[in-house]
Amino acid sequence: MNSIALNIQEIRRKVAKAAGLSGRKPDAIDIVAVTKTIPIPDIEKAITAGICKIGENRVQELAKKHGKINNQIEWHMIGHLQTNKTRQIIDKADLIHSLDRWSLALELNKRSALVGKIMPVLIQVNIAKEETKFGLYQKEVIPFIEEAIQLPNIAIKGLMTMAPFVENPEEVRSVFKALFTLSKKIESMELKGVKMDYLSMGMTNDYEVAIEEGANLIRIGSGIFGKNN
Ligand SMILES: *Cc1c(COP(=O)(O)O)cnc(C)c1O
Repeated sequence: MNSIALNIQEIRRKVAKAAGLSGRKPDAIDIVAVTKTIPIPDIEKAITAGICKIGENRVQELAKKHGKINNQIEWHMIGHLQTNKTRQIIDKADLIHSLDRWSLALELNKRSALVGKIMPVLIQVNIAKEETKFGLYQKEVIPFIEEAIQLPNIAIKGLMTMAPFVENPEEVRSVFKALFTLSKKIESMELKGVKMDYLSMGMTNDYEVAIEEGANLIRIGSGIFGKNN
């Protein structure tokens, strides 16, 4: 087995364990393989090993790779999305994890309408209020969603966060707990068209803790493809 396949096997083992600790089945958690800077042959190895969701954080790279991989996989836009670049991925992205401002909501709605699509999106939340990170602050999320449900061509499917980078992932457990609590609160409001299907949280360094706290979409880059990429 190649190292990418081995890495995926090891991650699946840990995912299953963490899922068990949160009372869920392993297949309730989906892995998004984060392929920024990763060449196509390595991405194909991951697909052969069973990966069916690919995450990119740059518009150009997603658009380029999209045309080169023929398999039936999902494309996730996970990085900061510039408003003037949405057009390039609107027909290619299956889920956008990084809706973080009103101007982007308007543009996504407009572009999706033009291609006859309802774009599934996650709201990016900056739980830890890090100045270096994008995302709405916790208290802004519900008012934002209440406005965004008026846009017919975007569909809110959940929340996403990036926890601060720490040596010991236990330090960011509270961040994941907070996102989970917020998603439950939104779910209980039963807003028209709003589903909390996805909680996108957890990366290579902290995905086990994130799953224990309710993540069902984890975004793994270096854990699959290696640290040097
Ligand atoms: C790069 C990236 C990841 C994956 O990070 P790793 O630590 O390599 O697993 C996840 N989410 C986002 C938004 C990223 O940009």
